[in-house]
Amino acid sequence: MKSVNPYIAPRERMIVEQLAARGVRDERVLDAMRHVAREAFVPPELREMAYADRPLPLGEGQTISQPYIVGAMTEALGLEGGENVLEIGTGSGYAAAVLSHIARVVHSVERLPVLARRARETLRRLGYDSVAVIEGDGTLGWLPAAPYDAIVATAEGPGIPPSLRAQLKPGGRLVMPVEDATCGQALVRLVRGDDGKDRVESIQPVRFVPLIGAEGWPEEDAWLARMRIGARENAAEGS
Ligand code: SAH
Repeated sequence: MKSVNPYIAPRERMIVEQLAARGVRDERVLDAMRHVAREAFVPPELREMAYADRPLPLGEGQTISQPYIVGAMTEALGLEGGENVLEIGTGSGYAAAVLSHIARVVHSVERLPVLARRARETLRRLGYDSVAVIEGDGTLGWLPAAPYDAIVATAEGPGIPPSLRAQLKPGGRLVMPVEDATCGQALVRLVRGDDGKDRVESIQPVRFVPLIGAEGWPEEDAWLARMRIGARENAAEGS
């Protein structure tokens, strides 16, 4: 008897109901997300929820983004195939795997050694040979493989790190969440003009974990933010 992969149907439902229905139209993105086994990137005890319409905890206080957000950010990068891409915030490695289905090569930087090691193992096991996971402070980019056609950061910073902007090719796109006075955090896209002038636009309000590093938030701020979230969760549970 043929065994049926129980994740195929939920994955297809995710494509239709969470991505296409909310406006992710790029077939390259939909196809990439149809091929990546998200269940292999979430912690084993959360596998049943791999295709739920929400972010999931990864350990170390970090989260794997909601599928729709991965789709929207990947689409905003405007990849057509063949690109050299830099990701900041490897986390589980899921978004890097999605990017690698379209791009030629993906360099992904993660600051937490435990997560970097785990993501590297998962990606290797699944055969994602065009993804390189680098341990370090991604706010400084990754000079050895620069310049990039596209850069994406999956953690929120106080602004766009100058080092990332500098490692973008003319015509390149950078997508990341940044602090926003009206909505808290907004996803922004910077397009580096061929003339060296930048165009920056706000895409949508979002909620991400902090980008911690030399050109991000200082470590102490992140601790305070996490304690505030913890206090709120405790209050909610108690009421
Ligand atoms: N793209 C991930 C989600 C990552 S959550 C996925 O698909 O699973 C954000 C990640 O950014 C966390 O793992 C966090 O440790 C990492 N991070 C925060 N600041 C960073 C920095 N300066 N450099 C590299 N990674 C950073």
